[in-house]
Amino acid sequence: MAIFAEKVTKTYQSGEVTVKALREASLTVPDKKIVTILGPSGSGKSTLLNVIGGIDRYDEGQIVVDGRTLDGLKDKQLTEYRRKNIGFIFQQYNLIPTLTVEENVEVGRELSSNPLPMEDTLKKVGMLDKKDKFPFQLSGGEQQRVAIARALIKNPNILLCDEPTGALDEDTGKNILKLLKYVNETYGTTVLIITHNQGIGEMAHQVIRMSSGEIVETYENETLVDPEQVTWS
Ligand code: ADP
Ligand code: MG
Repeated sequence: MAIFAEKVTKTYQSGEVTVKALREASLTVPDKKIVTILGPSGSGKSTLLNVIGGIDRYDEGQIVVDGRTLDGLKDKQLTEYRRKNIGFIFQQYNLIPTLTVEENVEVGRELSSNPLPMEDTLKKVGMLDKKDKFPFQLSGGEQQRVAIARALIKNPNILLCDEPTGALDEDTGKNILKLLKYVNETYGTTVLIITHNQGIGEMAHQVIRMSSGEIVETYENETLVDPEQVTWS
C-alpha cells in the first residue's frame, strides 16, 4: 500500500516539558516499496512509524494510506486499520515465553481475517523445523524470525520495522534485513525499516533521513544492489 504523509506534527507533553517529535514531516512511499529511515536518536523515527501504524496519533497534517486518511478515525476504526493492514517488528522480539514458536505465530494469525498458511510462513522465515521450540531455546536472530513470522502471517499490506536488528550481532542483523527484503519481493509488502545499518540503503528503493523531527533528505535508488552484493560497512 502507498503511504502519503503531509506536514505531520506530533508534540509530546510530559509535565513542564514539551517535545516536538515531528515537525511538518512529509513523505511519499509508493506501493510495494522497501524504504529505510535513517537518523540520530531522538530525531522522530519511531514516532513517525507509530503514527503511520496507528499505535499513536498525530496532531496536525495528514496521513493517507491506500487513499484513505487516518484523520479523525475513531479508536475502533484505527484498531481495525491496524489489524487489517499493519505488521510491526521491534528491536525486542516480544515473544510470549510460555508459547512455542508455532503458538506465538498463531497469535498473529488470529488477529487476521485473511491469514497466510502457518507452514508456509514458518518456512519462509526458516523456522519450520523449530516450530515446537520455546523462545528461550532460540538465538536472538531466530526469535526475531519468529516475530517476523507473527507479523507476516497476518498478510499485512505494510510492515513497519523499528530497529529490527538493534539487538543482534552484525551478521545476524544482515540476514534479518535480507529476509525483510525477501518479504518485500515475495509478497509485495510495503516495508519501512528504521535501522542504523547503512548497508540497507543499497537494496532499498528509497532512503529517508530524519533530523530533529523533520525529513531532511529523501533519496530514490535508481538501481538496487542485490542483497548478496551489498557492502554493509
Ligand atoms: P527516534 O526513534 O528517532 O530515536 P523518537 O520518535 O522515539 O525518536 O523520539 C522523538 C522525540 O520525542 C525524542 O525527543 C523523545 O524523547 C520524544 N518522545 C518520544 N516518545 C515520547 C513519549 N511517549 N513521551 C514523551 N516524549 C516522547
Ligand atoms: Mg526510535
